[in-house]
Amino acid sequence: MTALSVSLEKAYLTSNTSPQGLNHCQIDFSSDGSSRDWHAEVDLFVDDTDESAGIVTAQPLQPKVNSAQAFSQTREWLDQCKNHTSCGRMPSCTNLPSRVIEVAPADSLGVPCIRSTKGLKGAYLALSYCWGGNQSYVLTMKNLGSLWQGLEMKRLPRTILDAIEVTKSLGFKYLWVDALCIMQDSVEADAQSDMNEELATMNQVYKNAIMTIVAACAPSIVDGFLRDRPCSEQESFNIPCRRGPEQFFVVHIQEHRMYDDMREPINARAWTFQEQLLSPRLLIYASHTLQWQCRTITCNLGGSYHAPNPSAAPRLPSAQMLLSDGPEQHHKHGSIAPEIPHPVLQHWLRIVTSYSSRKASLPSDKLTAISAIAISYAAVFGPEYMAGIWARSAVQQLCWSRASDRIFCRRPTQYRAPSWSWAALDGTVFFASFLQVNDTSVCVPDHRFEIVKWQTRPEVANLPYGQVKAGDLIVKAALRDATFDPSRSRTIRFDGAADVDMHDVKEDSSPANPGLIQTGQGKSDTAEDNYARRIRCLVLYRNKLSQRPEMGGLMLVEAPERKGLLRRMGAYHSANISIFEGCLLDTVCII
Ligand SMILES: [Zn+2]
Repeated sequence: MTALSVSLEKAYLTSNTSPQGLNHCQIDFSSDGSSRDWHAEVDLFVDDTDESAGIVTAQPLQPKVNSAQAFSQTREWLDQCKNHTSCGRMPSCTNLPSRVIEVAPADSLGVPCIRSTKGLKGAYLALSYCWGGNQSYVLTMKNLGSLWQGLEMKRLPRTILDAIEVTKSLGFKYLWVDALCIMQDSVEADAQSDMNEELATMNQVYKNAIMTIVAACAPSIVDGFLRDRPCSEQESFNIPCRRGPEQFFVVHIQEHRMYDDMREPINARAWTFQEQLLSPRLLIYASHTLQWQCRTITCNLGGSYHAPNPSAAPRLPSAQMLLSDGPEQHHKHGSIAPEIPHPVLQHWLRIVTSYSSRKASLPSDKLTAISAIAISYAAVFGPEYMAGIWARSAVQQLCWSRASDRIFCRRPTQYRAPSWSWAALDGTVFFASFLQVNDTSVCVPDHRFEIVKWQTRPEVANLPYGQVKAGDLIVKAALRDATFDPSRSRTIRFDGAADVDMHDVKEDSSPANPGLIQTGQGKSDTAEDNYARRIRCLVLYRNKLSQRPEMGGLMLVEAPERKGLLRRMGAYHSANISIFEGCLLDTVCII
């Protein structure tokens, strides 16, 4: 019989897990002491961190999120955050939003009511939640007066009642909830203008809140979020350990299960994206436990183990990062726009990719539901925002394509954005990588590409970062006519290429056959555009430094609605970076 040996390897002591310690590791099992037969990832935790002397520091998952311990832990997190330099100052008092819920006014026997603040200062919490269907008890022109007197507690949905409970238990007086603090009867002209005014200041509402209560696990407003979490049915094994003579402790180990925050109902919704990004601090009522997140730390109630999910929604970058090139570098109209610093641009592209996977109940909300983030970025990028794309470093942002090879994006039935904007479509998009290696860009914008003029028409004049009615992009660039045929292995054949069956072409860049190399790979944005047709290819970037040279850009077709103008129908790339050499430049308008 061979001996079974077990070794602990790759203890996860990375700086962004919490708490720090030997709380997650990979165990290799081998039967002969050398080769690895199989391995398992396990989580380790202890009941008493004093006994384990700081080796294993994680504690069991805490299911009781509505407990004295949970509220006292939250107050501790708030206190700690005051000392976090990258979290910014936590003012004890700030400008209140124009309306708030006063959770326990002294003069009304503890019944919460709506207050009009008129410049009043104070400290408040905000709520981020899923509506999940129609809601009948909301602020309207009609019930304005009665809500001032006091809210009808019986009519309040569970999620709002729970948020009021949390606000009171933490000792705060004011809570902001969109359903009760913004007029919701949008058919009334006064209410619509109220909503537009509030939307224009939305970035301040979440930024100025002391923290945002995130009802992450509640699929709808009637579900609430304060009930005990279900106990884990996962089996755990106890391992006695010795840390010195006569000093023992017990470590529990169980199979690793990553908490995936992107599976929470709230992270499928469009509007909640900016609410969480803008908030300096989040108190997250997750499906497994209560979680704190600020710009410095993320941790769970009771010190249970947390490892960040790499595909989680990004946080808004710190002010230092956003301002790394200084707002004074804003260019004037007509001058060449300086490039956005690489890390800041990458952050914006990550925001768009993450946001594009979410759904809004109203398709027309796509740009509006991210407008508060755009307003924050405008302080650095300048005001020139073209329906989801900043005029600065526009090439990198125009290089989007659908993220999945198999799943097409969908075009909403009503016009929403110009075809060159990711906001025109529903579906996850990603961007060509303009990585930097040793301060040199691997992908570089094509030097011939130039934006001559652009223009977007906002739906509402005081919401320039919101919904648009139209958008034109006039560019000067190198273009070539080609045929797109999705049934072929090389979907694009540029005019002039030898007319052979491209299924037989083995290698795209054979110098012996210059006619054959004039092909590329294109991806149409939507299923409706995925058929064989004539197209025009516009170059946006080229990449000759990496091992696989490549160039790429947009696939354009004539716009049926406006003769002579073009619209985007997809993106392409080609391994032959010389296809456009010597090509005459053309000025075209893309809508
Ligand atoms: Zn903090």
